[in-house]
Amino acid sequence: MIFRNEAGTDYCQFEHLSACSDVGHAVFLRTRGGSDAPFDRLNVSLAVGDEVLRVQHNRRLVAGALDAPELVFVRQVHGVGVRVVDGRPAGDAGSLPEADVLITDRTGKFLVVQVADCQAILMYDPVRRVVANVHCGWRGSVADVAGRTVEALRGGFGCEPKNLLAGIGPSLGPCCAEFVNYREEIPSRLWAYRRDTVYFDFWAMTRDQLIAAGVREDHIETSRLCTRCNTDRFFSYRGEKRTGRFPAVIGLKI
Ligand SMILES: [Zn+2]
Repeated sequence: MIFRNEAGTDYCQFEHLSACSDVGHAVFLRTRGGSDAPFDRLNVSLAVGDEVLRVQHNRRLVAGALDAPELVFVRQVHGVGVRVVDGRPAGDAGSLPEADVLITDRTGKFLVVQVADCQAILMYDPVRRVVANVHCGWRGSVADVAGRTVEALRGGFGCEPKNLLAGIGPSLGPCCAEFVNYREEIPSRLWAYRRDTVYFDFWAMTRDQLIAAGVREDHIETSRLCTRCNTDRFFSYRGEKRTGRFPAVIGLKI
């Protein structure tokens, strides 16, 4: 990933996506923003106990860094629901739709996934000019939300999977993805991703799910940054429990 700082924020970008001039994207580090501990400093979640005004300030920083006219949030529920974002204004915080996949072909609609250990999976089709952002925790991995998103892009927008670029953001790595109850939580078909006793490689799982859905391996970039190993830069629910959420954002530039 490429690390940058812009407009009062620190963020990182996938190399292949940053080479696309039509698309804006970033995964933001926690390091600069307006929130105090334990949400220091760039928390964008209104659901973790942080002060609303500080979160709103942080969201403005994010929008400013990307020159995004509008940030689109959803209420993430560890499901596979898709929200297709059209030209209408997004709802306010009280009426956010539940979804874990955001897709749009409209310019100026910057899709936000908020995470602290879960994966944000950013996708872009430069041919059909469509972007997607996926919230994928272990339940999403079990449900193949990555592969389902590729299907939704194909079915709803005519995207050919071989054209898609995908980026797997900073998230819980195989070093820290400990699942002591994996026999109950993770189906046996996925036990091949068990790396050491009770640790799982969800990065490899997502990569393989994308490949199985038709995405080219050389179009998939994995940040390989473990949130729990890097709490100085990213929020980690496992590492900190009471903490913030950092945003991964992608949108089509106007
Ligand atoms: Zn780790």
